[in-house]
Amino acid sequence: MKVVLQNLTKKFPNRNKKGDDVIAVNDFTFEIPDGKLIGLLGPSGCGKSTTLNLICGLEKPTSGRIFFGEDDVTNLPPENRGVGLVFQNYALYPHLTVRQNILFPLQNLKGAAKLSKAEMLRKADEAAKLVQIDGLMDRKPSEMSGGQQQRVAIARALVKMPKVLLLDEPLSNLDARLRLQTREEIRRIQRDTGITTIFVTHDQEEAMSISDMIVVMKDGIVQQIGKPQDVYDNPINLFVAKFLGTPPINVFEGRVSGGRLYVGDDEVLRVSGAEDQPVYVGIRPEGFIPQEAGPLCCLLSGVEVMGRDTSVVSSHPAAVSVNVRSIIAADYPINREAETVRFALKPYKVYLFRKDTEERIPFEAV
Ligand code: ADP
Ligand code: MG
Repeated sequence: MKVVLQNLTKKFPNRNKKGDDVIAVNDFTFEIPDGKLIGLLGPSGCGKSTTLNLICGLEKPTSGRIFFGEDDVTNLPPENRGVGLVFQNYALYPHLTVRQNILFPLQNLKGAAKLSKAEMLRKADEAAKLVQIDGLMDRKPSEMSGGQQQRVAIARALVKMPKVLLLDEPLSNLDARLRLQTREEIRRIQRDTGITTIFVTHDQEEAMSISDMIVVMKDGIVQQIGKPQDVYDNPINLFVAKFLGTPPINVFEGRVSGGRLYVGDDEVLRVSGAEDQPVYVGIRPEGFIPQEAGPLCCLLSGVEVMGRDTSVVSSHPAAVSVNVRSIIAADYPINREAETVRFALKPYKVYLFRKDTEERIPFEAV
């Protein structure tokens, strides 16, 4: 089922003295293709949950419309939208068994949709198999791990075979290893069922790893939409560049002058297509090449070997943050005793941004 958001806006009245409204979602327009997994990504408070709540009908938009396929569902109550919801806290009924928890949404079906007992049990079994908890059907939530409880919550959201599945930070309460495993499970389940899914997270790595497309939000406003790799490679502004990638992009004060790009006083690249101006220079950690006579001169603070790669921590007077982090293939020798380390730069890992609007400035390396 394709989901269309049209100029979707949600304002909340503010309780502070000034009384300005909080615009939790600001003019969100996007067509979510049928059967895809979309990662909705942004820092806490940027409007992710509000967007999900608008889609499922728990909140009413201030303006704008929502379509499921060709149907306008903007005024439809949540129970008639055919949406499955999973939250961060699994919100299972503690006194019910796993089977009873999964059955619960089916028992509330009325009229023509009402199912026989046998049908309900069959559907509950199917949903449990999908998330691989069919061996635990008689347990209570308290007798299960966090990861298993979250699977039950997912099974419960799937049991009515929703048209759209909405997941609001579903992995936040799991430990690192389980998070990894469960996010792969979610991807598999989504592929198996073909249900259009929106996955909300503040964790860029999580969103990047499982989404067909990501939507990056800030302060209620969509910044960029695209395939994860495209957004990483072509961030539209400094915010998006900084939000994607671990370690994060390194940001420096710099300038373009007479076809040369300077980071502080270091002339690092010859460039064309960018006007002379002060800029922010973003360099991805994988964009540094250690080179004896390299143009970017950093003060070496430490070298961390991480197996396949080496992480070089250094500093530079023009860097916006204390540390400059670069990831170097382990076969480059780094002299740990040296005071400085010099780098050449991979031009396609270097980004320029306007100092005023922080928008990306296109350029070509020459
Ligand atoms: P996220 O899920 O990305 O962390 P939310 O959608 O929960 O963000 O919130 C977006 C903004 O809207 C925040 O500034 C939040 O304080 C505000 N907000 C959310 N719900 C309400 C509400 N019911 N009343 C007032 N403000 C709200
Ligand atoms: Mg939220």
